[in-house]
Amino acid sequence: MDAVFAGGVPRTGTSAERGVVVDPADGSVVDEFEMAGGDDVAAAVAAASDAFPEWSRAMPAERSAALHALAARMAGRSDEYAAIESRQTGKPLRLSSGFDVPGSIDNIAFFAGAARNLEGKAAAEWDGAHTSIIRREPIGVVGSIAPWNYPLQMAVWKALPAIAAGNTIVLKPAEITPLTTVMLAEDCAAAGVPAGVVNVVVGTGPEAGEALVSHPDVAMVSFTGSTPVGKRVMSLATATVKRVHLELGGKAPFVVFDDADLEAAVHGAVAGALINTGQDCTAATRAYVQRPLYDAFVNGVTDLFGGVRVGPPADPSTDIGPLVTARQAERVAGFVDRARAAGARVLVGGAAPGGDLACGAYYLPTVVVDAAQDSEIVRDEVFGPVLVVLPFDSDDEGLALANDTVYGLAASAWTRDVFRALRAQREIRAGCVWINDHIPIVSEMPHGGYRQSGFGKDMSTYSFEEYTQVKHVSLDITGEARKPWHRTIFTGPA
Ligand code: NAD
Repeated sequence: MDAVFAGGVPRTGTSAERGVVVDPADGSVVDEFEMAGGDDVAAAVAAASDAFPEWSRAMPAERSAALHALAARMAGRSDEYAAIESRQTGKPLRLSSGFDVPGSIDNIAFFAGAARNLEGKAAAEWDGAHTSIIRREPIGVVGSIAPWNYPLQMAVWKALPAIAAGNTIVLKPAEITPLTTVMLAEDCAAAGVPAGVVNVVVGTGPEAGEALVSHPDVAMVSFTGSTPVGKRVMSLATATVKRVHLELGGKAPFVVFDDADLEAAVHGAVAGALINTGQDCTAATRAYVQRPLYDAFVNGVTDLFGGVRVGPPADPSTDIGPLVTARQAERVAGFVDRARAAGARVLVGGAAPGGDLACGAYYLPTVVVDAAQDSEIVRDEVFGPVLVVLPFDSDDEGLALANDTVYGLAASAWTRDVFRALRAQREIRAGCVWINDHIPIVSEMPHGGYRQSGFGKDMSTYSFEEYTQVKHVSLDITGEARKPWHRTIFTGPA
């Protein structure tokens, strides 16, 4: 793999650091490459700057046609995308082929259509002397930085609204999972997206990421990743007053009221906690269950967690695969071990599996109870197959516990009472609140955080608010040489 795709040309990176993509299922090397460094970032930004004037003025229908062609190309290679996505992340092939790849194609197709529907507000005369027009214009070169948990989907979520709106981009994927992002750049070129509109640099955060965020010709930074790195990105962007869009960490609450459909809540919690081996920013991580249902809920999720099949990603019967790296598996184990040491009980899981799976970055689905609300396993992002369950008594308490976090990306509430549901959706402070479900997303609806989960929206036409700027154009309609307001300067008769 070449670590740089700039101006439509792939080439090797010039950093002193070497990149390695490892299959977390068995530790085998999938690919090795020379990483991109600061010079490569500068070349990619130059290519994006050169491409901007033409792309930003291209007719929306032209941009749309290229994006439709991109969706078609990805659909034609979907098996290849799914296999490589699975290999570089460890996610089950069932997930990559049933969710990551079709979700990405759908998102591209959505923005191919939305590219033709960008408009400002209608013109009007606000003072009788001028007609005002609102133009919605692209921002320029966007530096996009993506994480490793859904590499292809995150690359698509970053790239598509930006280029549909007429920007050009330099995209930096996580250096441990770059392969499908490089494929995406190749397919953009093959689909007729002009050279320089989509550029990719594969390098480390401190080297390539910071060079991108700090580059004076980058007008906006769109970052998806952890909250600590998001803070660093935001502080670097202040030096050149860049627009910043941050999609950061989450710690989603899952609030079960005592009238909930227990079977639905239990199944929802297991699927919502374990999707992508729990490496999902919206995953259900903290289940708060009203006391009358608490024991039955805990027993239900414990039984189902115990039955989840952990196994090799390519096996169709596998429910969850390994974590993305051995380091991530150790990090998850560390959280569970410290919770145990602090007095929490682990009802199922709480260890790495042995046997054939011992050579991979696996960790068993884990249910934790009796953890303190202020303990790290309740407050911090574990990013693994771990669900913490805690009880509550009154509705007020349940909602207060759900909001007792610095994050605010997603949440769910489970109830059959319409008034409880209406109260929960209003009072929970998160960018997405599901009622009686947890996880589903659609390209037409926005995704983004409150509080330290960041700001700005991915997906949907709301994302155009991030990737465009509004210009007010004011046209004199009187034709008069001397305007009434000139009296503020000229004394005497106007
Ligand atoms: P991360 O913050 O470690 O890395 C994200 C990206 O930032 C990577 O490409 C990395 O190389 C780069 N980076 C690291 N240091 C940098 C620096 N100093 N300057 C510039 N770039 C830098 O996150 P991760 O571990 O790759 O991904 C997991 C995190 O992403 C979790 O916190 C998860 O919640 C979050 N996430 C959020 C969303 C969302 O929509 N809000 C979606 C997916 C993942």
